[in-house]
Amino acid sequence: MIDLHCHSNHSDGVEDVPTLFRMAEHAKLQHFALTDHDSIAGLDELDRLCQQSEVQFVPGIEWSTRWKKHDIHVLGLYIDYKHPSITQLIEQQQSRRLDRARIIAGILEDLGLKNCWEKTNAIAGHAQITRPHFAKVLVQEGWVRDIPSAFTQYLARGKKAYIHTEWASIPEAVKAINEANGIAVLAHPLKYKLTKTKLNALCDDFKASGGEGLEVISGVMSKNDIQFMATMAQERNMYASSGSDYHGKSLSKTEIGMQSHLPKDCQPIWLYATKDKESS
Ligand code: AMP
Ligand code: MN
Ligand code: MN
Ligand code: MN
Repeated sequence: MIDLHCHSNHSDGVEDVPTLFRMAEHAKLQHFALTDHDSIAGLDELDRLCQQSEVQFVPGIEWSTRWKKHDIHVLGLYIDYKHPSITQLIEQQQSRRLDRARIIAGILEDLGLKNCWEKTNAIAGHAQITRPHFAKVLVQEGWVRDIPSAFTQYLARGKKAYIHTEWASIPEAVKAINEANGIAVLAHPLKYKLTKTKLNALCDDFKASGGEGLEVISGVMSKNDIQFMATMAQERNMYASSGSDYHGKSLSKTEIGMQSHLPKDCQPIWLYATKDKESS
């Protein structure tokens, strides 16, 4: 089994890196990527842990990008994560994230949530602030029942505490990944709820920007959706990736490495990706 998408408490995941590593070992993963949002903070530790195990460490990151009016996520896999192109983009993205977090906290405070900034920072700990941290504050303060409701009532696009963020563009994110000898993968393409025409346009733009892979499987998906995504990848001659997008036991419906198998006719990124890079 493989899992090329998951989150630690360096972003909006619940578990720390050693816990995720133990889960990966328990699931007998062959390839395992940690892909925190706009952060590589957990990668050194995971690399060290994997060195004494059968689990092969895949260095990863999940960039937030802006495409038309949508927040689109781009995975950088097999990246040289200390490359200056990665470090520079992380700095830009984290500064945008911090500015955005201050504005969201201000909006929620104006709505009556006292000391929202302090409370959110307390929950985020050493992690950079993401919307799920605000969601947890809203739950903790009794404003909403659960995390999904925090999104549908406050944090999702178009809601009271949503603000438009000027994330990197797809070409910028892909360029940083390619400069760091990684492979750019469009994360969970079906999660954006785009029309088929828009989804095709997104995949085409992604490929034209230098993206090489599509995340054909993300967490729990129906057979039909998997086949649909596999065809999208094949039509464009792109690699297929697969990841749980695990965020923690309390947040995710799935566990690390529990995805279905990729359809046979896909080109699994973990089989071909490093080979290609080495020979090119
Ligand atoms: P951010 O990068 O700060 O905009 O936060 C995005 C993260 O919020 C995603 O990676 C998901 O983990 C989480 N998220 C987005 N939408 C929802 C939702 N409707 N319900 C629960 N979590 C969500
Ligand atoms: Mn997340
Ligand atoms: Mn994502
Ligand atoms: Mn993710």
